[in-house]
Amino acid sequence: MKAHNRSSQTIRDYDNKYYMHPWEGMDSFGQADRTISASAEGIYVYDEHGNRLIDGPGGMWCTQIGYGRRDMADAIADQVMRLSYHSPWNTASEPPAVLAKKLADLAPGGLNNVFFTTGGSTAVDTAIRYMHFYNNRLGRPNKKTVISRDKAYHGSTFLSASVTGRDRGKNFLDVDRERVHLLPDVNPLIRPEGMSLDDWCAAKVKDLEDAIVALGPDSVGAFIAEPILASGGVIIPPNGYHKGCMEVCRKYDVLYISDEVVTGFGRLGHWFASKDVFDIEPDMITCAKGLTSGYLPLGACLINDRIVDPISGPDQEGVMFNNGYTYSGHPVACAAALKNIEIMETEKILEHVREISPYFLERLHSLRDEPMVGDTRGIGLVGCVQGKVTGDGDSYALDQQFGAKVDEKCEEMGLIVRPMANMCVFSPPLIITKTQIDDMFDILREAIRQVAREFPQAA
Ligand code: PMP
Repeated sequence: MKAHNRSSQTIRDYDNKYYMHPWEGMDSFGQADRTISASAEGIYVYDEHGNRLIDGPGGMWCTQIGYGRRDMADAIADQVMRLSYHSPWNTASEPPAVLAKKLADLAPGGLNNVFFTTGGSTAVDTAIRYMHFYNNRLGRPNKKTVISRDKAYHGSTFLSASVTGRDRGKNFLDVDRERVHLLPDVNPLIRPEGMSLDDWCAAKVKDLEDAIVALGPDSVGAFIAEPILASGGVIIPPNGYHKGCMEVCRKYDVLYISDEVVTGFGRLGHWFASKDVFDIEPDMITCAKGLTSGYLPLGACLINDRIVDPISGPDQEGVMFNNGYTYSGHPVACAAALKNIEIMETEKILEHVREISPYFLERLHSLRDEPMVGDTRGIGLVGCVQGKVTGDGDSYALDQQFGAKVDEKCEEMGLIVRPMANMCVFSPPLIITKTQIDDMFDILREAIRQVAREFPQAA
């Protein structure tokens, strides 16, 4: 299929000259040599030369049902022709109303109040702003500090970036750290030698409690946590961690925000991981990405009755939650989400993830026998391969480039990976089959071997 006619050279020129990409590296600004994605179908992306690549990272953790579905196109086109937009402030329409009900039905317990946003960052921003609003309305204006964690990623708006733990001080952007406290890394890999996972879990829960006590419970408004730290390197906290943190939050009346932007919509085999995988019912859940499988931008912040009921009702005359977006509840994006969810239900995609993920993880962990691999970890259809830390000098430089080197080799053989320093991260479309998982890991293993041959000192 060729819908556009410009040459690759023209696209690359325009891209370099005019398009400021997100997370743009200023060293290559204006002269980057990006692969041009030309089309996509199922789990495959086709580049400008017609090469077929397996989409290992699922776009950016979001292409759950895969690319190029006619039924998605039809649902989107139908809604465009019926009602392409309406003001969400003073009018209602069918897609956001039905989607809000659907999300409330799919979400745990009292998470029945759905605030639509434009993506994950704005969902996190909304959750924090709701916490501000909630505490202001309850007459405790000092209870606003957010506790987050090192390596967490929560977004790129000012507030969501402020509670993001990664790359502190490296990105030359200002954030608000005055009302943010970051807990240390929860990665079980870094626990002291000989310490059990249970003890590590207790220590990490204690980090949260100690921080609340030190900051003063009257000043802590929320704890925000991804069920697994995704962009931070697929860090899976020990069993019982989230439950323990939830108990601490309840004890000190601190709201628990579960950032399910990655883990929602089937990534871990369930609509939401909070309840079904980690056994918690948060005060707020943020989601985006898989909500539309990346067909259109949409996010949502789900808010628990527990924290809506006390500050809403006829006695609240003149009070408004003054937060919103022109595209809150965009009818076309909501129609896409409804169709996406319908497809996931009728094609039993969550069941498929639960069935296939043990095989995905088996193939992932089998890479541990490669001398260059230091660690593999995963859950559901999320995986990470980490290069071995081999020391200093040249080999250490390679550690930091392990992801990029493996990525380069993989791409030559038809697989996209997401490189991150010494890691490669995977979150393929959820429709991936066993044979396609085999193709993916065969390529990955071969790429790791090729890199090892080029850098024998590091393996
Ligand atoms: N939260 C998490 C856990 C994420 O992984 C991301 C994006 N990677 C975001 C929030 C931000 O979402 P968006 O890029 O849609 O604004």
